[in-house]
Amino acid sequence: MTMTQTQNKVRIRRDIAAMEAYTPTASLEVFAERLGRSVDSLIKLDANENPYGPSPKVQAALGSLDVTHIYPDPEAGKLRAMLSEYVGVSADHILVGAGADEIIELILQLFIEPGDTFINCPPTFSMYTFDAPIFFANAINVPRKPDFALDVEAIEAAARESGAKLLFLCSPNNPDGSLIPAETLERLLELPLVVVLDEAYIEFSRTESAAARVPDTSNLIVLRTFSKWAGLAGLRVGYGIFPLDLMPHLWKIKQPYNLNVAADVAARASLVDVVERRAIVENLITERERLERELAAIPYLNPYPSRSNFVLCRVVGMDAADLRDRLARDYGILIRYYAKPGLRDHVRFSAGTPEQMDALLAALRQIGETL
Ligand SMILES: *Cc1c(COP(=O)(O)O)cnc(C)c1O
Repeated sequence: MTMTQTQNKVRIRRDIAAMEAYTPTASLEVFAERLGRSVDSLIKLDANENPYGPSPKVQAALGSLDVTHIYPDPEAGKLRAMLSEYVGVSADHILVGAGADEIIELILQLFIEPGDTFINCPPTFSMYTFDAPIFFANAINVPRKPDFALDVEAIEAAARESGAKLLFLCSPNNPDGSLIPAETLERLLELPLVVVLDEAYIEFSRTESAAARVPDTSNLIVLRTFSKWAGLAGLRVGYGIFPLDLMPHLWKIKQPYNLNVAADVAARASLVDVVERRAIVENLITERERLERELAAIPYLNPYPSRSNFVLCRVVGMDAADLRDRLARDYGILIRYYAKPGLRDHVRFSAGTPEQMDALLAALRQIGETL
């Protein structure tokens, strides 16, 4: 068979054929092998995961799981009832997905027709734009100010000029940890578009979620997740809180079995154990506060104030990628570096256990002595 014949039979989308490959971060096993270390000796501070793992109740629930041969409840009714208590909004407003990432995809699918636009405010979570080309969405980037505050006037101008349908916001913002002030959110909700507010880290912020506002606000969607505070990143559970008018349409397009039975029981067990979880969250907040303080005393690092479970730093007088490499190679400590505009001289450290933070700070001081 000739090449041409093959091509005629197998015709994948031309835009996807032309796309560059995405390189996800390596697994811990791959990292360990590359660094010549054991998995257990690595300190993983690159993805804001919960180093304490999930609640013991989650382990117990997974251990006694006996329904893996039955399809899950398409409505995730029990979990949504518990979430309703947890967020203080009726379950009719809540849609659960395989991570908040899946909810982001559902939102793009629901709103975007080919060529439609949404507003993105970088530096921020990369998943909003990662998904965009697959759903024929054009991102309009309105960069944040140097202190990572939103450029509200520029967002308003971009909304007017572009007719964008969606505005993605993140509070606390990943990667810097800043909050969006309530007045700013109010003002942006006046725009003729839907505001998607990602609150993946709200449990660490000591502020109120905007979720309670959703029932009275026709153009506000709030995203939440179990990945960080509940320690379920590997099981993939997130949810969106939507205005009622959107819900029937979301039910039409959601995969019926998007939340698997293990993720479902694990999420419910986490909500049973909210008190234990709050204590873990407090520990992580304490360590983040300590990081902010102690990083500020390290001459080549300038930390930004954070209201989340991570701290972003500008690296001065040293190459940030080099810092990442040295921490991995010499200490087995994995941190986040961004080869991206506005962030090339930055690194982000996730808050961990006190022992992990001791190791990180000692390594950073030692590296400082070699400069
Ligand atoms: C980690 C993270 C999420 C969580 O996504 P999941 O798919 O639920 O794991 C969402 N938004 C931001 C900003 C994040 O950092």
